[in-house]
Amino acid sequence: QFIPRTVLVTGGAGFIGANFINYFLPANPGCRVINLDLLTYAGNLKNLTAVENHPAYRFVHGDIGDASLVGRLLVEERIEAVVNFAAESHVDRSISGPELFVRTNVLGTQVLLEESRRHWSTGTIEQFRYLQVSTDEVYGSLGANGFFTEETPLAANSPYSASKAGADLLVRAYHETYGFPALITRCSNNYGPYQFPEKLIPLMIHNVLTGRPLPVYGDGKNVRDWLHVKDHSQAIETVLKGGRPGQVYNIGGNNEWQNIAIVQLVCDLLDERLGRPVGESRKLVTFVADRPGHDRRYAIDAGKIHRELGWAPAYTFERGIAETIDWYLANQEWVAAVTSGAYREYYVRQYADR
Ligand code: NAD
Repeated sequence: QFIPRTVLVTGGAGFIGANFINYFLPANPGCRVINLDLLTYAGNLKNLTAVENHPAYRFVHGDIGDASLVGRLLVEERIEAVVNFAAESHVDRSISGPELFVRTNVLGTQVLLEESRRHWSTGTIEQFRYLQVSTDEVYGSLGANGFFTEETPLAANSPYSASKAGADLLVRAYHETYGFPALITRCSNNYGPYQFPEKLIPLMIHNVLTGRPLPVYGDGKNVRDWLHVKDHSQAIETVLKGGRPGQVYNIGGNNEWQNIAIVQLVCDLLDERLGRPVGESRKLVTFVADRPGHDRRYAIDAGKIHRELGWAPAYTFERGIAETIDWYLANQEWVAAVTSGAYREYYVRQYADR
């Protein structure tokens, strides 16, 4: 097993990165975590209040595309592992502005890889691993049957997934060309606490609570596989410690839902909790023009990580979604903070004409 003493987590103030740090730090005493995050609209230090005073935690404000900063951090902190979450992550934003996605997701990853390779190749550290956190969206879209395996060809359809696929190929190339010890994980849709309310589940919760329409793309029958973010965090830890460098590991929940069914479930669970007649919130559902290039179905075959590394999700969806809704209800202050300002302007632009 690979047990790193210092990990550089990039993008650790975002949804999955923050959940990862909140889980990983207490679970791995003896391991320091350096969080490098640019704090874009999606990054929020309030996601990390549980660990901010932990002696083994340090936050650094900066860009993964800043080679001198990254190079300095790797050496100064004697980093033994990099886990790269930093990205522009929202498909709709990639459609209205693809350039930033290429800059952060492709060029940013390139800088991180190159600085990491230099640091690794000096031989001043005993051990090193790089883990790229990627997505099932790089595989494109499925019909009604079948699953994505690690051998499925990349066929990205959105500027977001294309930029993630580009990054994955660079990571692969660094392993093939330089023998650089890199691993890739590709996970399905995550849900859980601290998810920015532009994504499906928190958006629907927020809009029900504020009495706004619930925008559902197209016919609502696009299918996604949903995994609790803590299960994803544990899968990443498992691959970092036990995975084989040069390999890709798919991560999924075997939990497929049509978008409309998820929205209705969220509505009904909220109605119960708010003491409203069940069915009330569903009236807010509004079908809107489909997202261009909208992938129909994603489904992950997570057999490899299960067989090789023994990972399986711990959460049932029933428990995970109930806990998530309760978290949002109990953390309305957090929601208010992240939905003010820039996000509000974006939301108005995005949905004003629908
Ligand atoms: P997010 O948008 O919530 O967080 C991204 C974080 O990266 C933010 O904290 C942001 O400030 C930071 N960041 C952006 N550009 C940066 C830069 N140039 N330098 C340093 N930090 C920067 O995203 P997320 O949902 O937490 O996703 C994290 C990663 O997991 C992404 O790489 C994404 O592609 C991948 N992923 C997400 C999902 C999902 O369902 N959300 C599923 C599979 C994979």
